[in-house]
Amino acid sequence: MDYGMTAELEEFRAEVRAFVAANAPDVPPKAGVRSAENLEELALLKAWTGKLFAAGYIGGSWPARFGGRGEAHSAERDVVVGEELARARTPAAVQGAANLVAHALIDYGTEDQQVRYLPGIRSGELIFCQLFSEPSSGSDLASLRTRATRTEDGGFRVTGQKVWTTNGQWSDYGYLLARTDPDAPKHRGISAFVVDMTLPGVDVRPLREMTGTSDFNEVFLDDVALGSDALIGELNQGWSIANSSLGHERSGVATSAVRLRRNVAALVELAGRVTRNGRPAIEDGAVQERLGELSASVEALSALVYANISRWSRKSERVHDGPMAKLFFSELGVDIARYGLELCGEAGILVEGDTGVVDRGRWQDEFLYARAYTIAGGSSEIMRNIIAERGLHLPR
Ligand SMILES: Cc1cc2nc3c(=O)[nH]c(=O)nc-3n(C[C@H](O)[C@H](O)[C@H](O)COP(=O)(O)OP(=O)(O)OC[C@H]3O[C@@H](n4cnc5c(N)ncnc54)[C@H](O)[C@@H]3O)c2cc1C
Repeated sequence: MDYGMTAELEEFRAEVRAFVAANAPDVPPKAGVRSAENLEELALLKAWTGKLFAAGYIGGSWPARFGGRGEAHSAERDVVVGEELARARTPAAVQGAANLVAHALIDYGTEDQQVRYLPGIRSGELIFCQLFSEPSSGSDLASLRTRATRTEDGGFRVTGQKVWTTNGQWSDYGYLLARTDPDAPKHRGISAFVVDMTLPGVDVRPLREMTGTSDFNEVFLDDVALGSDALIGELNQGWSIANSSLGHERSGVATSAVRLRRNVAALVELAGRVTRNGRPAIEDGAVQERLGELSASVEALSALVYANISRWSRKSERVHDGPMAKLFFSELGVDIARYGLELCGEAGILVEGDTGVVDRGRWQDEFLYARAYTIAGGSSEIMRNIIAERGLHLPR
């Protein structure tokens, strides 16, 4: 079922689908938002990113003078693109932070910064990572401790540690939040910067995750010298810049609904191939019931997501709408992946490369990755807090 799709959007969908089929990079499909595993994959993903921008399928919300679709842009079109990429199990653009930093530069950057970075982001050549989270500052991001101290020439010296930096190992630049006024209230003493990741004092250490891949990194900043032109916007304006750049994209959750629907369809197909008590699992009433339940949940999620997108387009979004969808999809994702493993039976403990592994280790990868979505972009507990306190007005 698709919700709220007009004939014009369906036509657009067909166009995107054909584009994806003709141009998608030959990179093995994996669960979630993943980094390139080697330089060849990186080159493929960069080229793919450039094609998506050039076709206007991403970056549509940028002003027309920077290559966006201007007035012609619509959130629904972004949703269609995200859905088609998810349907094809094709990676999205390589740079997770590119959209974030692009909106920060468009809204707050100098002309020099816009000219220097925006074309490279659109061509896919420049990769940006997001240097926000720290070992002790994730949910409470405003407590971050990385310091940027002003120097006499108007520049800055930065010292601190970041973590969870997706794509840090492949990034040319980082979009950094650092504390510039330790005496101000915590939200008011933070500034936003562009950091050249090749500068002396920047040390990127990839983390090996339980999925076996390195999708994020630790980044150590040791007295890194930045020029005054690295500052985005005004000094100590970083918190509002970061929040406004985070608010630009809403298609991610819609994409996830499609990804989950596709996973449930794959579960149904899997249940036809594996056995329970000597018979195809799909013939078991309990299996049918569980598959029906998961499928119904995905359709409910889809309906919720489309209602949110429609509210967002009409500028009547409520503070708990996004958190409800995010909580629902990330927890449902874990349930679906877990059921995939369960259906695999004993083979569920084998991983890609082992003899007898089902679907080349897909369900293990889905299961191990699914937990990440319950943390990234605000953990499930934080989502529940927002829904309870701001949506239902329950006491803290
Ligand atoms: C796959 C992935 C990619 C990421 N990529 C990036 C990136 O590129 N750049 C970047 O800057 N960050 C990135 N992050 C970091 C992400 O934003 C943080 O993990 C997230 O904000 C949670 O912060 P934390 O990990 O420090 O957990 P903490 O905030 O330390 O939370 C630990 C636990 O305590 C709970 N908790 C915390 N506060 C409360 C509260 N007030 N009430 C109830 N429970 C609470 C949390 O729910 C959680 O269970 C990524 C994370 C993931 C998982």
